Amino acid sequence: ALKGKVALVTGSTSGIGLGIARALAAEGADVMLNGFGDAGEIEALRVGLAQEFSVKVGYDGADLSKAEGVAGLVAKTQATLGGLDVLVNNAGIQFTAPVEDFPDAKWDAIIALNLSAVFHGMKAAIPGMKAKGWGRIINIASAHGLVASANKVAYVAAKHGVLGATKVAAIELANSGVTVNAICPGWVLTPLVQKQLEDRAAANGTDVEAEKKKLLAEKQPMLKFTTPEHLGALTVFLCSEGAETMTGVAHSMDGGWVAQ
Ligand code: NAD
Repeated sequence: ALKGKVALVTGSTSGIGLGIARALAAEGADVMLNGFGDAGEIEALRVGLAQEFSVKVGYDGADLSKAEGVAGLVAKTQATLGGLDVLVNNAGIQFTAPVEDFPDAKWDAIIALNLSAVFHGMKAAIPGMKAKGWGRIINIASAHGLVASANKVAYVAAKHGVLGATKVAAIELANSGVTVNAICPGWVLTPLVQKQLEDRAAANGTDVEAEKKKLLAEKQPMLKFTTPEHLGALTVFLCSEGAETMTGVAHSMDGGWVAQ
């Protein structure tokens, strides 16, 4: 259903972004990948996706914590894949510490990637989408865009900011054919969460399996992880004509986390 469309998924060499990139490619979209990692593994991923779904797949390792990195990535997508119809702002990082111990540099790094890159990405992508009269912007926020947890001041602030920016862009673009939505996942078992599980196991003298159960039980009525495939399916729906009037919404997919 997305044949002829071009999608850029930031932070798509791993985790949720990779799941979303796969889902969009499976619908026939040409895809630009972005993110860090081993050059050989990324090239294998790129070629594998292109072959499996018979679509064009590009890769650019731009550092999105810098405004020029984001603008350059959007420009490269448009130049090499012929446009940009679907922008998924997904790249993100985490760091945990209480407010009074939170390193300034970690605050700056999280705000730069998890919040400012979303602004810079939308700013760069909107003119082309408006000119075409069709576009989909999907910002990956978090349950932490809606509620807080201890020790995540920069992340929670950034994700709340992403929801604000999503609503503003949605209103501005309401009659342009471009919709702007956010997705708020609960726990997803990706490298970002794996690190938190390992840190908790080390701190508590337990193991990762025990910490998985505790992590879910602390926040989610539903005691299972959301998967990158679930989030890919929601992204595909948001790109469909059926979702034409859904805009400015924070779509939770969180096992009931924020229902409480
Ligand atoms: P991940 O660590 O598996 O993937 C992050 C991706 O971002 C990787 O491809 C990485 O290379 C890339 N990246 C990191 N720094 C970058 C930079 N400076 N420039 C460009 N790319 C960069 O993490 P994930 O869990 O898949 O997280 C993806 C998004 O989903 C994040 O925005 C995260 O906040 C959000 N999220 C995750 C969860 C969860 O439980 N995993 C829950 C809610 C929201």
